Amino acid sequence: MDPKLGRMASALLVLLLLLEGGMFSSSQPSGLLGEVFQYIDVHQDDFVQTLKEWVAIESNSVQPEPRFRQELFRMMGLAADKLRRLGASVDSVDVGHQQLPDGQTLPIPPIVLAELGNDPKKPTVCFYGHLDVQPARPEDGWLTNPYTLTEVDGKLYGRGATDNKGPVLAWIHAVSAFKALDQDLPVNIKFIIEGMEEAGSVALEELVHREKDRFFSSVEYIVISDNLWISQRKPALTYGTRGNSYFTVEVKCRDQDFHSGTFGGILHEPMADLVALLGSLVDSSGHILIPGIYDHVAPLTEEEKKLYEAIDLDLGEYRNSSQVEKFLFDTKEEVLMHLWRYPSLSIHGIEGAYDEPGMKTVIPGRVIGKFSIRLVPHMNMSVVEKQVVQHLQDVFSRRNSSNKMAVSMTLGLHPWIADINDNQYLAAKRAIRTVFGTDPDMIRDGSTIPIAKIFQEILQKSVMMLPLGAVDDGEHSQNEKINRWNYIEGSKLFAAFFLEMANLHQ
Ligand code: MN
Ligand code: MN
Repeated sequence: MDPKLGRMASALLVLLLLLEGGMFSSSQPSGLLGEVFQYIDVHQDDFVQTLKEWVAIESNSVQPEPRFRQELFRMMGLAADKLRRLGASVDSVDVGHQQLPDGQTLPIPPIVLAELGNDPKKPTVCFYGHLDVQPARPEDGWLTNPYTLTEVDGKLYGRGATDNKGPVLAWIHAVSAFKALDQDLPVNIKFIIEGMEEAGSVALEELVHREKDRFFSSVEYIVISDNLWISQRKPALTYGTRGNSYFTVEVKCRDQDFHSGTFGGILHEPMADLVALLGSLVDSSGHILIPGIYDHVAPLTEEEKKLYEAIDLDLGEYRNSSQVEKFLFDTKEEVLMHLWRYPSLSIHGIEGAYDEPGMKTVIPGRVIGKFSIRLVPHMNMSVVEKQVVQHLQDVFSRRNSSNKMAVSMTLGLHPWIADINDNQYLAAKRAIRTVFGTDPDMIRDGSTIPIAKIFQEILQKSVMMLPLGAVDDGEHSQNEKINRWNYIEGSKLFAAFFLEMANLHQ
């Protein structure tokens, strides 16, 4: 080839690589990290192959069928073997059986506890992940077989690719790169990997309690990589999730329904009471009307305000993809704050109401309204419960109804918030800058991910969510995928994170 043409071709290649690498530029680091990155690049097809083997296992924990349980056991066994081959000491902990509502009992797949290294001079980081998946059938509308990892345009399609098999493997690959290069691991590493996350993490909390002073005693940091960025190309770090408190309010006249021709006009109708109660909860601007409910919401600081401004979110695109004409708020910052750092109240349904098509002139004798409040720091669940009960009692008593009202809180999950100035957040930020050439979006999740709070509450250790997947990965849905780029750069990110943790520890 003409040398000039050759130079042009290589310049073009560099340009293409930069484009491929996203909108940010990062350079290959030197030294050990450079070697690790190179190892990961060279072995990326092997890494994809391992993911393919793991995705091929139908480790569905949601449908309690014996054949899926067998697959779950096989999956956990494979993971334990893989960790053993890395040199980890591995304990597959039997966590007993699960009693199903129909009386059937099924064995729960073991929870894998593994550890590599126990050098007291190094920090100890524990990785949490899960290897069970949501159900998937080809006829649900998959373009490829959900259990055959298939690459199309750099996207690796398959059930569990992003939730959560890919990220678990990325962490393992990061460890394996140091091992393969005969390098000391920069940190002590532990793993806790379960197979029942999609079914509500049955048995996990109990095990964490039980292992608090053993397996977890030396653990200083816990990393979870089981959520997504809010962008397609810009990495994120998650430092909080909202909690949730779920309420039912029952209004009862009698157990039987009434005929509106025979009783209409002479009754305090339960449904009218309930509609008034539900209508008193939140106004048309989304503001919750329960007195005192905002009292303990953390005030917005200047530092926090800046975080929202820097986040990569196209509100117009978000509106379109959600098929919503107008949100309650017009700016990115307000939308994010109301999803993440302010409480919200949603009305979900009415039990006992007539909800079939067509007409029926019934007066329900007893109805139950359902609503929930997404909780944020530093709201206190038992205070919220009292405020809700008090408010509904006040509204109800003003109606002078002869019906009976009963309010109960049927679920309570605390919000979670981490200190973003903690060492592991600093290390992750630096690692993201090294691998992706940008600062991360500092994000929270508007929904509740109990696992972070469980670790924080039981173990009192620093918890961080460090996602690898892109916003369009489609976890739980048809055509779930992880981009090859996210999977491979994610493996590098974890490796860089280990080294940054070691640096900060010195
Ligand atoms: Mn998950
Ligand atoms: Mn999931």
